[in-house]
Amino acid sequence: SRKWARAMAIVKELDDKCGTPLGKLRQVADAMTVEMHAGLASEGGSKLKMIISYVDNLPTGDEKGLFYALDLGGTNFRVLRVKLGGREKRVVKQEFEEVSTPPELMTGTSAQLFDYIAEALAKFVATESEDLHPEPNKQRELGFTFSFPVKQTSIASGTLIRWTKGFNIEDAVGKDVVQELTKAMHRKGLDMCVTALVNDTVGTLAGGRYYHPDVIASVILGTGTNAAYVERTSAIPKWHGPLPKSGEMVINMEWGNFRSSHLPLTEYDIALDEESLNPGEQIYEKMISGMYLGEIVRRVLCKMAEEASFFGDTVPPKLKTRFVLRTPDMSAMHHDTSPDLKVVATKLKDVLGITNTSLKMRKVIVEICDIVASRAACLAAAGILGILKKLGRDTLKQGEKQKSVIALDGGLYEHYAKFRDCLEFTLKELVGDEVAETIMMEHSMDGSGIGAALLAASHSPYL
Ligand code: ADP
Ligand code: MG
Repeated sequence: SRKWARAMAIVKELDDKCGTPLGKLRQVADAMTVEMHAGLASEGGSKLKMIISYVDNLPTGDEKGLFYALDLGGTNFRVLRVKLGGREKRVVKQEFEEVSTPPELMTGTSAQLFDYIAEALAKFVATESEDLHPEPNKQRELGFTFSFPVKQTSIASGTLIRWTKGFNIEDAVGKDVVQELTKAMHRKGLDMCVTALVNDTVGTLAGGRYYHPDVIASVILGTGTNAAYVERTSAIPKWHGPLPKSGEMVINMEWGNFRSSHLPLTEYDIALDEESLNPGEQIYEKMISGMYLGEIVRRVLCKMAEEASFFGDTVPPKLKTRFVLRTPDMSAMHHDTSPDLKVVATKLKDVLGITNTSLKMRKVIVEICDIVASRAACLAAAGILGILKKLGRDTLKQGEKQKSVIALDGGLYEHYAKFRDCLEFTLKELVGDEVAETIMMEHSMDGSGIGAALLAASHSPYL
């Protein structure tokens, strides 16, 4: 019918606009490398903040003692305690708890958010077992993983630049997040000090390095996306502080805010951005990360319903609700292997209130998920190539077989298999078979939490 043809034209156009041939991905990678240089050259020199993390030494394995970590990511926050046993014993014991962040706290006041977190932390501390107490006369120490753009002022302080990922707590912007947390801990009577403030990418890099000496960069693909890597201090013109002995500095790229004319933007991305809490910002993140992928699919389906009556004469009311289609639901539909696409049918019914779809329609919906997820994975691969280029690790040095390990983490990477496979396959294609043998992607499980604890350990005032 004419309506079906119109619907297929919408899908075809989406597919064309989302195209990511290798040539285009190389342009994106080159643009990423250029922006990295600019962001390192001067403060405000690029959309990429290239934040100096004050981490100039990564874990060695010698770290010892009891440490806490708090990981505030977006969707959930985690509290964790680890007992580190040094080089031989490593992580002797590890306990954690995950708490979901109540949505109303994401747009409330700073005190409300941090009181809630401190409360959860105090409860967790109260469950310390006999063998997991701090030594006498020693305050409990905490590594704080805070996954939003922060201008670090030292290893244990930093001011919030702006919120992302659906958070919008105005009175916290410009404040030192360590002080905000510390004040809340005092209000709750919790005796603990924050000895390291790290971004989740920096934590993941540290956690990855603890187990693998060749880890040079980390990438988070969760609610949002970001990356960090180890840079030579001599390549950071904007750094005027003391030069660390190591000659190295971990850089938190804040790559979610990357944008380039080479990015394959569609009308859906533009509308999503305009209607977001942070229009004009985090454009790369809005094309790649878990908070947004399902929403992009929803917008495509909505247009098909409105302009091609794809789901019948009326537009299903739920389909008009922003963010109803979450990325885990999209992922479940995308991975549906049943011959009649049962999972797709169930998700359409449960999430969008759409019944009576034909198999042919459900196949189209899976195709849309594939287009949106593949574009995201390819763009993330291009970003990683950008980092490898910056480090000169995208080619083989004569006679050298230097390994480069990238530590990856985040719910999207962990749970969306087709996304992960496409990312890994595309990076291999981009660098070629020979170089691909020197590059490894490793899932760094809970790396950001453990990494923060490790950095708290190596920056302990008791050392
Ligand atoms: P955060 O980024 O908030 O620290 P996570 O790394 O745990 O948290 O990532 C959570 C995000 O991962 C969710 O917002 C969701 O977008 C994505 N995600 C979780 N489960 C799945 C899944 N099964 N399939 C696809 N994406 C998922
Ligand atoms: Mg996280």
